Amino acid sequence: MITKEIIIASRNQGKIKEFKELLSGFPINIKGLSELPPIPEPVEDGKTFEENAYKKALHVARIIGLPALADDSGLVVEALNGAPGIYSARYAGENATDEENNMKLLKEMDGISNRRAIFVCVISIAVPSGPALTYEGKCEGEITLYPMGENGFGYDPLFYYPPLKKTFAQMSPQEKNMVSHRAQAMNQLKQEFDKVLIWINQRLCHQH
Ligand code: IMP
Repeated sequence: MITKEIIIASRNQGKIKEFKELLSGFPINIKGLSELPPIPEPVEDGKTFEENAYKKALHVARIIGLPALADDSGLVVEALNGAPGIYSARYAGENATDEENNMKLLKEMDGISNRRAIFVCVISIAVPSGPALTYEGKCEGEITLYPMGENGFGYDPLFYYPPLKKTFAQMSPQEKNMVSHRAQAMNQLKQEFDKVLIWINQRLCHQH
């Protein structure tokens, strides 16, 4: 069996579009979850970005019976022992807005001089029988003293990137795409994607 499809384990249209564009030159069809019949949500109870990305990818791969790709990302702040980390999306509470999360981060960082932080993005590609490949991208920066810039999402207004002397929210989408944790993970995936396809096909063959 030769794979013709990979499922992106996400309902985020922006994310699906990015992966479709990234992998458009390869002989594979990319589908988002919204293009398939509804399936139960995965439980995101891992302790690391890698575990969560893998759990999401495997959940979808098992149910659909096709290879699936998932990502997990967040902000790791050194002085906060790695917080918000895997809890980045819900740092200020279950349905917290970006602004609430940003305010909480500034409050936690009040009076702290070590402002070092890293954005992390992990991509996991799993086959239904269990094995997975992992790609990780990181971007180092500093937490600002107040929000700066209007672009992007999440913690972008608080994440200062010294080489460009701008926060992620002060960058154009193109600039952010040159340096971001997600771009780095995606570029690695793209560079190795020929090998990824071979790996997937070997795993699918051995299943039968
Ligand atoms: P997820 O990987 O979609 O679960 O996102 C995790 C959370 O990490 C987001 O809700 C944001 O709060 C934060 N995050 C991840 N990537 C970025 C980024 O590029 N800019 C700002 N915040 C981000």
